Amino acid sequence: MLSVVVPVYNEKDVLPKFHDRLLCVLESLCDPFEVIYINDGSSDQSLEILKSFCAANRFVSCIDLSRNFGKESAMTAGLDYSRGNAVIIIDADLQDPPEIIPELLSRWREGYDNVYATRRRRHGETWLKRVTAGMFYKVIGGLSRVKIPADTGDFRLLSRRAVDALLQLREQHRFMKGLFAWIGYDAVALEYDRDPRFAGESKFNYVKLWNFALEGITSFSIAPLKISSYFGAFVAIMAGIYAVSVVIKTMIFGNPVAGYASLMCSVLFLGGVQLVAIGILGEYIGRMFNQTKNRPLYFVKRYFHAESGEQKP
Ligand code: UDP
Ligand code: MG
Repeated sequence: MLSVVVPVYNEKDVLPKFHDRLLCVLESLCDPFEVIYINDGSSDQSLEILKSFCAANRFVSCIDLSRNFGKESAMTAGLDYSRGNAVIIIDADLQDPPEIIPELLSRWREGYDNVYATRRRRHGETWLKRVTAGMFYKVIGGLSRVKIPADTGDFRLLSRRAVDALLQLREQHRFMKGLFAWIGYDAVALEYDRDPRFAGESKFNYVKLWNFALEGITSFSIAPLKISSYFGAFVAIMAGIYAVSVVIKTMIFGNPVAGYASLMCSVLFLGGVQLVAIGILGEYIGRMFNQTKNRPLYFVKRYFHAESGEQKP
């Protein structure tokens, strides 16, 4: 059986079109399938639309989360509920074309556990987003030990054993791109053209993307900590050399009490460097704090399914 997991947050304008295209593809496959929509605390009519899908088709179910937990947790909820031998994760906004699902499946049948769709072209994205995304993949590629494929979103097919592996990672800060790579198994890329969003707007602005990048770097690498300690060592050595030269100069030329400029520069520079280093430490400690609370990743309010009807989870 094939499971399709779709996180949904305020997508009322795209859902009907998405559902049509998805079902059209899935029904042409002649394999048993299930579609699991996760309503991630939408504030528009998305839930009503999803309920009508569930009522109309017994292969469709909907998990209604208790509030907006973010796409990462929503996907995890979907994976928790999925039962298929292969699980596909797809966005509801039609940026990920459902039409390539048969190709994903055929690579899975060849024995791959993780078939990820890589964007050949990104339509409808600004140059700024492209450039920043490119930089992000460079940085994370250099810092992290697992290879995170560039230009790859969450759109992919996972085999059952890959899903089971992924579900064992219950960390609070879920950088999914990294987690998909971390579990290992045989992965293969499938290229596709990313379409612009069909309707509505992206939920990820630049502030969110920045935090997302921080999340990725801090969840997958402690390089920033190392860099700050090496940089500290470098500054200390340079300061030592400079101190020796100051002492020697004072001994030879006396002490004319000059040097306000150099004093000011070094005080401000060291102050800045120290604050940055403390900030980096803080990023890690904050994440440790969240992790030690060990809260569940999401709560399910209701579960809709045509056969079993509305259920408490
Ligand atoms: N999404 C979600 N919860 C959120 C934000 C987004 O479930 O808090 C879903 C959204 O409905 C969509 C997918 O995640 O199906 C991707 O979101 P979006 O298109 O806004 O992201 P982008 O494509 O711009 O990265
Ligand atoms: Mg999108």
